[in-house]
Amino acid sequence: MADPTSRRALIERVLSGVETWEASWGALPDTHLPDGLDGLLDEYAARMEANLPFFHPRYAGQMLKAPHPIAVAGYLAAMIVNPNNHALDASQATSPMEMEVMRMLAGMFGLPDEALGHLTSSGTIANLEALWVARELRPDAAIVYSEGAHYPHGRMCQVLGVASKAVPAHPDGRIDLDAVEAACQRGDVGTVVLTPGTTGLGAVDDVHEALALRERYGVRLHVDAAYGGFFALLGGPAYEAIAACDSVVVDPHKHGLQPYGCGAVLFADPSVARFYLHDSPYTYFTSDDLHLGEISLECSRAGAAAGALWLTLQALPLRRESGLGPILAACRRAALDFAARVDASDGVTLHLDPTLDIVAYFPDRPTTHAIDRATDAVLHAGMADEADPIFLSTLRVSADDFAALHPGISRDADSVRVLRSVLMKPVHEHAAGWLAERIETLASSVE
Ligand SMILES: *Cc1c(COP(=O)(O)O)cnc(C)c1O
Repeated sequence: MADPTSRRALIERVLSGVETWEASWGALPDTHLPDGLDGLLDEYAARMEANLPFFHPRYAGQMLKAPHPIAVAGYLAAMIVNPNNHALDASQATSPMEMEVMRMLAGMFGLPDEALGHLTSSGTIANLEALWVARELRPDAAIVYSEGAHYPHGRMCQVLGVASKAVPAHPDGRIDLDAVEAACQRGDVGTVVLTPGTTGLGAVDDVHEALALRERYGVRLHVDAAYGGFFALLGGPAYEAIAACDSVVVDPHKHGLQPYGCGAVLFADPSVARFYLHDSPYTYFTSDDLHLGEISLECSRAGAAAGALWLTLQALPLRRESGLGPILAACRRAALDFAARVDASDGVTLHLDPTLDIVAYFPDRPTTHAIDRATDAVLHAGMADEADPIFLSTLRVSADDFAALHPGISRDADSVRVLRSVLMKPVHEHAAGWLAERIETLASSVE
């Protein structure tokens, strides 16, 4: 499918389906195309060249990759019609698809069949909805999250006007559950946010151990699996424990091969639908069946996002041994291989063994300040080499966390940037050796 001819064939095939539909209504109008469009399209194409090649193994930086061609085809076919998954009559085809994919996602996490959920435009909005429901259920209690968690949790709590508390994370990025328990003992905690797959290091919080806090203190457990959620397909105790949590967020536009505009939130207890309850004088008129807009904070939502995800998950089901599972397993192998090569290399040190497919490492230097400078230099030298570029990212680590993992390095700064590679493409499995060598060369050539 990586072959552009087959991608094109796929798109033509899916668009022919739209033509069949058009045939019964008359063709979609070609509305007034202005003069000079050719030049404008050339300009647009030229401006697109400024993009970095997210799809290419040379891009080993942030959480970015091209969507799967099946998702592109599915999205395009639905987008041309432009259904809106707010109301059933606005999305006769794609609302039922959204309900089906939500059941598949609930199944992946082992949540009850009746779990309530919907797609959102992003993981941020999905988390906002989960924290909002948490606040409605526990209005006077705080939401606790880890310092290692995605930064918007604090901001979302501010938006919601709910008390929040950040607790420390271990140097490897996992939430410190003793610190969470200490906060619970003070009695003002309503909800704990757990992250199986942190954005920075891909650390997996011990969700299975946090279940005891739910028993002991009656706190709600919200799981932010925006990044790491699909790794549930590969198993492991933290992922298996999600089945016993209260809410979970996952981003199909990260590891679910979708274009942006596709997050998801699920609630184990469907009765939280009561918080969403509203009446709309102009919307829900066609049926008494559930309209997705009745259980979502967002109103208009792209039916195309649901269509694309549905088509993708039919072609690549949520299974461990076939479909999406082997794709995630390849990313994991890429990270392990790359980490082993970095570890064995001269001049580069592995910051931490990767838990998922995110690897952090740094150029060998005697002090944290020198490491920080060399990290920055490798990042820029990699991008600047026009003949043989590589694109990495950096992560800022506190001096305390860094010293805990690398006690031999002298500390002369409050924080230190290390290099970070999100190896979220299966092609990285075949590029790990080459990538590690390239980084080794750069690390020895910069100051
Ligand atoms: C990416 C991410 C988010 C935010 O999701 P968006 O889709 O970018 O809004 C939240 N939590 C974690 C752990 C993430 O990795």
